[in-house]
Amino acid sequence: MASTLIGRQAVVIGAGMAGLTAAGALADRFDQVVVLERDTLPSEPAYRAGTPQARHVHALLLSGQRALSELFPGFEQDLAQAGAVPLRAGLDVRIERQGYDPFPQRDLGWISYAVSRPTIERAVRARVEGRANTTLRQRCWVQEVLASPDGKAVTGVRYDNEDGASETIAADLVVDASGRGVLTLALLQSIGRPLPEETSIGIDLGYATCVFAIPDDAPADWKGVMTFGQAPHDSRGGLMLPLEGNRWMATIGGRHGDVPSGDAEGFLSYARALRTPTIYNAISRARRLDRVARYGFPESVRRHFERLDVFPRGLLPIGDAICRFNPVYGQGMSVAALEACLLRRLLERSGDGDPIAGLAPAFFAEVQALIETPWSVAVLDFVFPDTRGQRPADFETTLRFGIALTRLAAEDPAIHKLTAEVQNLLKPRSVYRDPRLVERVLAKMAEA
Ligand SMILES: Cc1cc2nc3c(=O)[nH]c(=O)nc-3n(C[C@H](O)[C@H](O)[C@H](O)COP(=O)(O)OP(=O)(O)OC[C@H]3O[C@@H](n4cnc5c(N)ncnc54)[C@H](O)[C@@H]3O)c2cc1C
Repeated sequence: MASTLIGRQAVVIGAGMAGLTAAGALADRFDQVVVLERDTLPSEPAYRAGTPQARHVHALLLSGQRALSELFPGFEQDLAQAGAVPLRAGLDVRIERQGYDPFPQRDLGWISYAVSRPTIERAVRARVEGRANTTLRQRCWVQEVLASPDGKAVTGVRYDNEDGASETIAADLVVDASGRGVLTLALLQSIGRPLPEETSIGIDLGYATCVFAIPDDAPADWKGVMTFGQAPHDSRGGLMLPLEGNRWMATIGGRHGDVPSGDAEGFLSYARALRTPTIYNAISRARRLDRVARYGFPESVRRHFERLDVFPRGLLPIGDAICRFNPVYGQGMSVAALEACLLRRLLERSGDGDPIAGLAPAFFAEVQALIETPWSVAVLDFVFPDTRGQRPADFETTLRFGIALTRLAAEDPAIHKLTAEVQNLLKPRSVYRDPRLVERVLAKMAEA
């Protein structure tokens, strides 16, 4: 065991999905792993201040589910035991989009789980807590990443403990999984290094969410519903999924000011104005279990750490600190878990020399392939004219290709499965460049 260790202590900032999965990846390669979290961590699944997004629907893609099982074998059973609702992909969630109300429902051959974000996080936390060499320290608010006097290497972090006293902790590796990544940026600034360039796509998304008891007479032909608006004129949409405890969580929202209000009446009237009545009809007769929660998401942001020439040894930003995706596509947790699997592979691969020095550059290079597909989905937001940012030059063709591909997927179960695999980040978007597929899509475009 000792020969496989590459460092004495790794410190992870943040016990969200990226931090917890990273801790799982680090535990075999460091003597000690310490996760510092500013919040009190509830012993039961519960909302907490540091992750306000947890009050909204959190879909776990199949890639994320598999990545979590790779890091924590048997994790799917953990979810099932926690009451997660199994969903047959392609069949149990009614997809409503322009021209398809609903999109053909077919069993695509896999099960995903619908469950609240606090329950997913609690299940991952239990696995991390179960590692003998891993400690979760709650109510520890990291203030600063510490570096050597020449700024070449990170040496630890300074944090305020639960009594408000300032403490430092040494680390061979600091993983910044704090979501915003501001600590990494502050360190780069303090040592006089350039900040990573950013690509952002301004979407001004406004979300509102409410939880309902599933009524006895709930529709039998679906367990969840996803309703898209009529782009580019109507950005309103909704996603309602079942949760543990016989509940529905309904998230509705729109863009650029067309957003729901925070009261129950406003929630219902916004739901009534969605393009189809399915969600409204279901919830208007259901008992509301909680207040309406709201969330504003101004922009998707990708930080190009891979373009930096030098980066301090022993520091690694991960998860949302690298890339924040439009939450509508349900990608963030899955990308975080996939990044943790990449981190684990890189740590396993590291041979002689200084494995920690090479870690961040290798990670930044390899994570690009992982981010490319979810980011290419975020780019589709340019369908709405008010979206801010660099609209790709050939965007009209991309849109027409997408519409024709959707028509093909509606007709052909194999293409339906392929598109679902890409949406679930099981396959890269580059599979759409397959010449035989391109030929079929072009034929559909010509028909249109
Ligand atoms: C409205 C909304 C809906 C979403 N829906 C989905 C979805 O359906 N599916 C999906 O996969 N993803 C979804 N996401 C994205 C998902 O929540 C994140 O991408 C995912 O949780 C990974 O984030 P993270 O761990 O990097 O950061 P976070 O989840 O934000 O966790 C950061 C953690 O760091 C802690 N922290 C921050 N600063 C400090 C500090 N200085 N010291 C100590 N601790 C600190 C915080 O308290 C928190 O626990 C959604 C996001 C939003 C905003």
